[in-house]
Amino acid sequence: MLRKGAHAVVVDPGDAAPVLAYLDREGLRLAGILNTHHHGDHVGGNAGLLRRFDVPVYGPARETIPGGTHPLLDGASVHLDALGITLTVLDVPGHTAGHIAYAGEAAGVPVAFVGDTLFAGGCGRLFEGSPADMLASLARLAALPGPTQIYCAHEYTLANLRFALAVEPGNAALVARQAVEQGKRDRAEPTVPSTLDLELATNPFLRVAIPQVAAAACARAGTGLASPVDVFAALREWKNVFR
Ligand SMILES: [Zn+2]
Repeated sequence: MLRKGAHAVVVDPGDAAPVLAYLDREGLRLAGILNTHHHGDHVGGNAGLLRRFDVPVYGPARETIPGGTHPLLDGASVHLDALGITLTVLDVPGHTAGHIAYAGEAAGVPVAFVGDTLFAGGCGRLFEGSPADMLASLARLAALPGPTQIYCAHEYTLANLRFALAVEPGNAALVARQAVEQGKRDRAEPTVPSTLDLELATNPFLRVAIPQVAAAACARAGTGLASPVDVFAALREWKNVFR
């Protein structure tokens, strides 16, 4: 949720009820909906919100978005007039074929809404794209400014960090992060947003070029992995079966 004054814009409302409850509690008026991709747990609340608020619905041009009014292509600008914010659209296919992210500045802070592409400590599953697609999408996000606050769409952080530690047990920044994030969850606080700098230091899916990460992926695959895409694909398959 982005907010300013009496207005708010919601990103990926999977369910209308908690959004409406929050708006009512905070005395806010919905000014728009931003969707990153077509999955039900990201667009399921659109219809319920639109019943109460007649607002623009932004989403990927290459996917079907319920109530969509502004189909967006790579490089498009989204002007959220009520909030005085402009966001830029990045195509980041891999989790879904048309997945987009939104990047810009809110209250002077760089932010990115990345849906199910980059997670805190992990990345999304490849439902509609190849490892090469996803790796290229993650590289686009990794090129944003280091202090960018990364708003992903799910609180999967602790499970992701368990996997990250299996890949890189000797990464001191990762060990430290695990303790910090565990503390947040123990206090019932969210771990999202993180920052891009923190992800670059601890997220194995952004670290396929790091020798220790590549070596762990090779050991797991039982073979030499020639390219960053091979390393990424091996990591993603390993994560899929990691418990
Ligand atoms: Zn999804």
